[in-house]
Amino acid sequence: MGFADLHIHSAYSYDGTASISAIMKTIVDRTSIRVIAITDHDTVSGVSEALDLAGKFGLQVIPGIEITCAEGHVLGLFVNQVVPAGLSLVETVKRVGDLGGICIAAHPMARGINSLDFATIRYALRDPEVSRTLVGVEALNGGLVYTRRNPMVVQECRKLPLAQTGNSDAHTLQMLGRGSTYFHGEGVAELRAALVSHLTLPYERAGLSGAAVVTNYVPRILLRKLGWVDWTAGPEMAITRAHLHEVLNPSMSPSLSAV
Ligand SMILES: [Zn+2]
Ligand SMILES: [Zn+2]
Repeated sequence: MGFADLHIHSAYSYDGTASISAIMKTIVDRTSIRVIAITDHDTVSGVSEALDLAGKFGLQVIPGIEITCAEGHVLGLFVNQVVPAGLSLVETVKRVGDLGGICIAAHPMARGINSLDFATIRYALRDPEVSRTLVGVEALNGGLVYTRRNPMVVQECRKLPLAQTGNSDAHTLQMLGRGSTYFHGEGVAELRAALVSHLTLPYERAGLSGAAVVTNYVPRILLRKLGWVDWTAGPEMAITRAHLHEVLNPSMSPSLSAV
């Protein structure tokens, strides 16, 4: 059996607060998750770095992106190219399919952020091309107080002909591990097969709860705006501080906090 986290944000997201190496070190040190996807908002800038670092940490990485489509957020997995934001869900999913990827509907019905509703998902799935590529839904999103334990969301997700997934949607290191996806097997190929066959399950672990997510995130995003991110060199330093500075606002004079 294996556990995966298919929804993680790094400092390559405008609202991420940790480097990819820090994310990987935290995952390995604190969880049994061994397959991850870095899914930054509308960018794949961190994908090659994540793929390069994966072996050094003993992790398997799926290239990914969280796409802001017109109706809400959708995860594109097994893609290393940007699919433009603002397209319809149907068009977005088809483009991911053309790139050889698959999609997961992120945090459906979540309040306060762009989220798909169930009617939109069902309508899109009527298109055979879409149903081949949109294979999963986030029944558990560890980063959102609202959807994490909402029975209506869980029940509606179960009614959909989709794989049930759980993910952290972590924007800080402390949010990692709260949600994960369980599957039979250990590697990326087995996980993809399980997703396509709708045979995954969401799995919730102990971690930040309720308002603690907010109180954990707010100071870190403020520091991020000032140029601070959680950072670690990892087992072999494959990313330099100068490179990481380029990710952040170049007009700032960033500092880094080691983990
Ligand atoms: Zn999102
Ligand atoms: Zn997200």
